[in-house]
Amino acid sequence: MMSSLKTSLLWLALVAGLTTFNSSEAIAQQREIKQVKGNLYLFRNNAHLSVFLVTSDGVIATDPINEGAAKWLEEEIRKRFQKEIKYVIYSHSDNDHIAGGQVFADTATVVAHENAAPIINDGTYTAPPNVTFSESSIVQLGDGQVKLHFFGVSHTDNLIVMEFPQQKAIFVVDSLNINRMPYRNLPSFYMPELIDFIKQVEKLDYEIAIPGHGGLGTPKDVARYRNYLEDLYIKVEEAHKAGKSLEQAQASIQLEQYKDFDNYEAWLPLNIEGVYRNLNR
Ligand SMILES: [Zn+2]
Repeated sequence: MMSSLKTSLLWLALVAGLTTFNSSEAIAQQREIKQVKGNLYLFRNNAHLSVFLVTSDGVIATDPINEGAAKWLEEEIRKRFQKEIKYVIYSHSDNDHIAGGQVFADTATVVAHENAAPIINDGTYTAPPNVTFSESSIVQLGDGQVKLHFFGVSHTDNLIVMEFPQQKAIFVVDSLNINRMPYRNLPSFYMPELIDFIKQVEKLDYEIAIPGHGGLGTPKDVARYRNYLEDLYIKVEEAHKAGKSLEQAQASIQLEQYKDFDNYEAWLPLNIEGVYRNLNR
């Protein structure tokens, strides 16, 4: 397991695979597909990660990311596996992860958490879900299975954990990062609820943790991320209780034991701001 994980981490550190350049967009699209384990594959579109499971009866896709990414992925899956996408499961309602679902919806059943449905139905960025659930659900297709868990609010009120029991892997978008700070000022994040969410993730039986951005990790990495969130919350709550302003808290709080996390310097003050906002809600 470790060697394949190291390969994945190395792969994530490289810019590899197909790179196309569209002069009218002036932005290079970096897309690639990589085997995670067995029939579970990682799909990267620039800074966004998604996964898909190839089964005997077709493919279970997850976040489509955007229309161009989804069209590329659908075509690649047809070429490489000669299979149709039969399910698409949305991680949460944010459009930077689930735009473009209409590309899959002609062949696929669309699955999301029940709290995501009204948000998606109010927008025009992706296909609305056909199937929703509240606490847990199982998507079974041929010889493949995905378990879906809702562990309460964490990032948005509808973010779900996708568990691939056959591959002992989990896919957790935005609420989990590996050796990387939580995103900027924690937009749509609930604290301290996120800490309880991660504790429930840690009870699952898995070996590979796949986030929506950055590198893959192990249960140890997930525990360290939860430790960071706990330490951040305790420090900011102390400062808040002592009557310190946000600026004073930002000037005084250091969490040096996590300085190896990506974006530590730039995002620590923003993370503190995000916790302050939650303490004042
Ligand atoms: Zn998000």
